[in-house]
Amino acid sequence: MSLLLTDSSHATGVNLARAKSELRSALTEARAGGCSIGLVPTMGSLHDGHLSLLRAARAECEVVVMSLFVNPTQFGPGEDLDRYPRDEERDLALAAEAGVDLVYAPPVEEVYSEGFATHVEVEGLTEVLCGDPARRGPGHFRGVTTVVAKLFNTVQPDVAYFGQKDAQQVAVLRRMVRDLDFPVRIESLPIVREPDGLAMSSRNAYLAAGDRERATALSRALRAAARSAREESLAAGVEAGRRELEAAEIDTEYFESRDAESLEPVTELESRPVLIAVAAEIGGARLIDNVLIWP
Ligand code: AMP
Repeated sequence: MSLLLTDSSHATGVNLARAKSELRSALTEARAGGCSIGLVPTMGSLHDGHLSLLRAARAECEVVVMSLFVNPTQFGPGEDLDRYPRDEERDLALAAEAGVDLVYAPPVEEVYSEGFATHVEVEGLTEVLCGDPARRGPGHFRGVTTVVAKLFNTVQPDVAYFGQKDAQQVAVLRRMVRDLDFPVRIESLPIVREPDGLAMSSRNAYLAAGDRERATALSRALRAAARSAREESLAAGVEAGRRELEAAEIDTEYFESRDAESLEPVTELESRPVLIAVAAEIGGARLIDNVLIWP
């Protein structure tokens, strides 16, 4: 089904809503007609990773909504909120090309009105890896869960699509949906990579040529870790990955093996999927990557 919102149509042909009220009225008819609604939340600066989510949504849902919002509450003090890459015209053109029915691109005041005081916080899972108080801290995930809960309430999607690139985010959002009874199915899609293995990210734009080359060590380390974890042991895998990063002189924030769902530390491959995840700052860009190992 395609939505017809002539008054909200952008030059690219995609329907564009800036206000919650526009978004809601655009979706009322679709919802009343029993159409399935897929939501792809993004912060824009679209690349093939985002497009893979849009394609999956397009294939599975009758109405595809993409949100385009650089969410200030998930950036810590001193992080890259101000310089985060933004190119709305290009993003709208790519969304139109991908067959998105409606882009929701609200201004900050539409999402966080004056006196905003309610937050959604998932405990435990948000205090490790990227949420470790010594690193980004749980405030990052509080920003993510709050904005995604708001998007779920405004869009009321049947399915929401996220990338496995942000594996911890997926684990946290699955827990939020389960704990708060959101009637949404979370779909997580595989990491899309550059030909040399680097996981696609809007933040890769920050990398100067030499750092861009060094950054390939992240995926190399994860591949080495996965291979050695399967052939030898998980501990040997983690060691192999760390050695690869040391050789590339990359200082990691973490390189760890965790249960993919609970994010508890694990040291052996048993019956559950294991996540090996890495975060490192390279040339001023904070990059993350991971690999999932199925038993
Ligand atoms: P972002 O715009 O960075 O907030 O990302 C929006 C969505 O795209 C999130 O669900 C990300 O996990 C997903 N995503 C980002 N990079 C990739 C990638 N390389 N492969 C697959 N999904 C990705």
